[in-house]
Amino acid sequence: MDFILATNNMKKLGEMQRILSPLGINVVTAKMLGITIPDVEENGTTFEENARIKALSACETTGMPAIADDSGICVDYLDGAPGIFSARFSGGHGNDEANNDLLLEKLSGVPMEQRTAYYACAICCVFPDGREITVRGECHGHIGFERDGNEGFGYDPLFIINGKAFGRYTAEEKDKISHRGKALRLLTKELEKII
Ligand code: IMP
Repeated sequence: MDFILATNNMKKLGEMQRILSPLGINVVTAKMLGITIPDVEENGTTFEENARIKALSACETTGMPAIADDSGICVDYLDGAPGIFSARFSGGHGNDEANNDLLLEKLSGVPMEQRTAYYACAICCVFPDGREITVRGECHGHIGFERDGNEGFGYDPLFIINGKAFGRYTAEEKDKISHRGKALRLLTKELEKII
């Protein structure tokens, strides 16, 4: 069965393909099909709502089962910010360096015990017949005092879990404990029940 993935992020495509292909699910992007999915306003207030907005739009445009995810980092000292605004924390969309600089600045002088944070990932799957599945994975850790490592992306050089920044985890190590890995495994379980 072909599923459309509402992203052009090749890293997410690869990860989804790897985890969902054993279920007989082939994940494709709109670009791969030569289709354009109109940009939708991600105006939800939660990761779940934004994932659903993207999945519904992709399903309505293509008539195919669609999968979308939304993720970010929530810092307790900042009352959960940047949360759903993680990609554009410092203004422009997806500027990892500026986002990490701003996070360090906002936590300047804050001791380790108050630097708790978690990554969250919501994944929504929508079928043309109206069935929907939404799952969520979280990964809890701390924000470090400086960048560490070059692996991963986004806030990974600052996110410390089990005494080591995600910036120093291999992709396989990260998959096992990450918010996205957890959400994908939950999605797999739910899909197994219905397809
Ligand atoms: P989106 O889910 O593609 O909208 O990405 C949200 C933003 O959250 C990304 O641009 C990153 O800044 C951050 N983010 C989400 N997941 C991760 C992760 O696994 N590592 C590092 N940053 C992440």
